[in-house]
Amino acid sequence: MKVDNFRNYIIAPLTVAMFFSLVSLITWLAGENFITIMNYIYIGIFASLGMVLYAKLPKSKKNRGRKISMFAIGGLLFLVMSVLGRIDGQLEGFFFYIFAGITTGTVSHYFVAKIIGPIFLNRGWCGWGCWTIMILDLFPYKRSDGRLPEKFGWVRYLHFAMSFGLALLLWFGFDYSISSQKWDIAGMYWFLGGNVVYYAIGIALVLLLKDNRAFCKYVCPVSVILKASSTFSLLRIKGKSELCDGCDACTKTCPMNIRIPDYILFGRRVVSSECVMCLTCINTCPTGALEVSLGFDVGGIEMHRQKPLQQKNA
Ligand code: SF4
Ligand code: SF4
Ligand code: SF4
Repeated sequence: MKVDNFRNYIIAPLTVAMFFSLVSLITWLAGENFITIMNYIYIGIFASLGMVLYAKLPKSKKNRGRKISMFAIGGLLFLVMSVLGRIDGQLEGFFFYIFAGITTGTVSHYFVAKIIGPIFLNRGWCGWGCWTIMILDLFPYKRSDGRLPEKFGWVRYLHFAMSFGLALLLWFGFDYSISSQKWDIAGMYWFLGGNVVYYAIGIALVLLLKDNRAFCKYVCPVSVILKASSTFSLLRIKGKSELCDGCDACTKTCPMNIRIPDYILFGRRVVSSECVMCLTCINTCPTGALEVSLGFDVGGIEMHRQKPLQQKNA
C-alpha cells in the first residue's frame, strides 16, 4: 500500500524557508546590497517550492519539483555568475578571492550554500541547487546498483588538494592576482572552462558507470567541504523502526546508495555524509517509515551499498 504522508516531508521546505529568511535578514542588517538580499530570498522560495512540489505531485511527476528548483537556482546562479557577473564560481575562484580578501560573490555563496548551509540543511545544495548535477541528472541513470570500492572516494580529496595546490602555486608562485571581482574576465574563463571539464568528466562517468551521481560520489572536490560541514546537520532523514519491514526499497532507489534500513536498525538518523536530502527514500518507502527530522547528532557513520561484484568478494 502506498502511503502519501505530506507530513513526512514538510519539515524540509519549512526549514529551508526559515534558513534563507534568516540569511536574508542578516545580509540586510549587514548592509549588503539589494541584489544579494533578493538572491537569498529567491533561493529560499525556489528550494522550498521545489520540495513542496516534490512532496505533493503524483509519483510520475515528482521529479519536476526537483528540476524546477535546480534550474531556477543552479541555472540562474550559473548564468549570473558566469555571463552576467563574470566571476569565478569554481573552487579555485573561491581560493583566489579569499587570497585577495574579497568576501562577496563566490565566497559569500560558498559560505552560505556549502559551509554554513549544510549545518542546518544537510547537503540540500546537492539535492536541489547544484548546477553540475542539474545537467548530469538529465541522464536516465537515477539509480545505480551500488558504489565502487571505498578507495575510489579518495579521488575527490586528491582533486580538492590539486585545486588548492594550483591556486596556491599561481597566486604565490606566479603572481596571479585579482583586484576586483566585478567583470573579472579571467575569472569568467576559469568558471566556464572549469565547468566544461566537470561536465565532460561527469558525463563520461555517467555513461561508464550508468550512474548520474558518479561525479558526486568519486570526483567532486566541493563535496569535501560539504561532507565536513554536514557532519552536525540539523536536518536529516529519520526512520521509524516500528513501521520499517526491512524491504530495502529505499536503499535501491537512493541515488547515493545509502543503506538506510541499517541506520534504522542501529537507532540512528541517516547520518551518512553522502545524503543529499533528495527525499527520494521517503517517496519510495511503502510503509511511510521515513520522514525528515530536525535534531542534533554527529554524522560521518557511512553505510553504503557496494556494487554486486564487490559484495561477492567481501
Ligand atoms: S557533490 Fe558536487 S557535483 Fe554533486 S551535487 Fe554536490 S556540489 Fe554538485
Ligand atoms: S538517504 Fe534519502 S534523502 Fe538521503 S540521499 Fe538517499 S534517498 Fe536521498
Ligand atoms: S523502504 Fe521503508 S520499509 Fe522498506 S526498508 Fe526502507 S524504510 Fe524500511
